[in-house]
Amino acid sequence: MQDHKSAFEAIYGEVISQGLCVACGACVGYCPYLEYKDGKVVIIDSCKVGTGRCEAVCPQMDILRNGPGKAALEEGGGYFLSKALPKEFTKNAQYGGVVSAMVSYLLSTGRAEKAVLTDRGGKGSPKGVLVHSPLEVISLGGSRYTASASLSALNRLLKDGQPQRVVVVGLPCQMRAVSLMEKRSEIRSEQVFKIGLFCTWAMEYREMSKLLEKEGVLETPIRFDIPPPPKNIFLVEGQRGKWEIPLDRMRVAIQKGCALCPDMTGSYADISVGAAEGIEGHNTVCVRDTRGFELLEELTQKGILKVEALPEANLSHLKTAIKNKRERATTKLKERVSHGDI
Ligand SMILES: Cc1cc2nc3c(=O)[nH]c(=O)nc-3n(C[C@H](O)[C@H](O)[C@H](O)COP(=O)(O)OP(=O)(O)OC[C@H]3O[C@@H](n4cnc5c(N)ncnc54)[C@H](O)[C@@H]3O)c2cc1C
Repeated sequence: MQDHKSAFEAIYGEVISQGLCVACGACVGYCPYLEYKDGKVVIIDSCKVGTGRCEAVCPQMDILRNGPGKAALEEGGGYFLSKALPKEFTKNAQYGGVVSAMVSYLLSTGRAEKAVLTDRGGKGSPKGVLVHSPLEVISLGGSRYTASASLSALNRLLKDGQPQRVVVVGLPCQMRAVSLMEKRSEIRSEQVFKIGLFCTWAMEYREMSKLLEKEGVLETPIRFDIPPPPKNIFLVEGQRGKWEIPLDRMRVAIQKGCALCPDMTGSYADISVGAAEGIEGHNTVCVRDTRGFELLEELTQKGILKVEALPEANLSHLKTAIKNKRERATTKLKERVSHGDI
């Protein structure tokens, strides 16, 4: 059946109309028929071009067609505890500022000419931005817990001709999408440095905004956090107040498509960064390849990052979270197969 569908029919029928799109942005900014509006990827008109790119780079389609994919860490990789030492990297950061420090370093040493990051949103949903200077990187620190379609910014670069060197920061779905672009030779692996963010799920922007309003958040938030269990709260900070909302009241805003994602740590990234449970101001770092190890080593030698062994208890919690996410997604995929949805 699938072979007779056009790419556009497939992405619409199997992903978007099923509510499984996770707004990674891989299909946005390249094709004239797909746009990112207020937190959602929307179809403007039915496609007359039919190149099939949207289908080929969609991480959800990849999971539906090819299954869970890479394991979190293949042989030779490693987990570490880290934090950025210069205060400039930690002042706006979510935790230890490791992501901001790595991106700034890649830009300032010319190893990347541009960085694909996520802006702060504000009046509308967060979205992708192309950044050139370390100062801009620092200003964009912190986590927005909604999808941002930020890969549309990478697509703008690809459409204008191949970028020389670029660093992309994104969620596991986005790391998978970039690896699909590499497979299609849209960008060469050595041109793109992929920094993944650990992720259990992301919320839908419109749903999250409605819930926040209901909870009395009537201003534009400037910071969000989900402290480690057992707290079970969503922290929101604005100019005029701070809110602690029970996490369970926010869960209805989680994107349905996140349930299909088996990947907690961004397994397709060179290096991925998450929280370090119970160790304030620090990150867990997962390194997967030579480039990742070299970057970590260089930043340590220059005194930009402090890097230590990840405590055994943290490693064990993380491995459980990785396993649980993969199992939940595998079960969901099997359910879809048995219901005839795939
Ligand atoms: C939706 C979401 C869910 C997450 N879930 C988990 C989790 O379950 N467990 C865990 O350990 N960590 C999770 N994280 C990662 C964590 O919140 C931090 O991003 C990570 O630890 C890096 O911290 P840092 O201090 O080095 O980042 P910073 O130096 O503050 O840099 C953060 C970078 O993240 C980028 N960014 C912000 N929001 C988004 C977004 N929505 N999409 C893509 N990029 C974005 C910014 O461009 C910025 O460059 C999640 C992050 C997000 C965005």
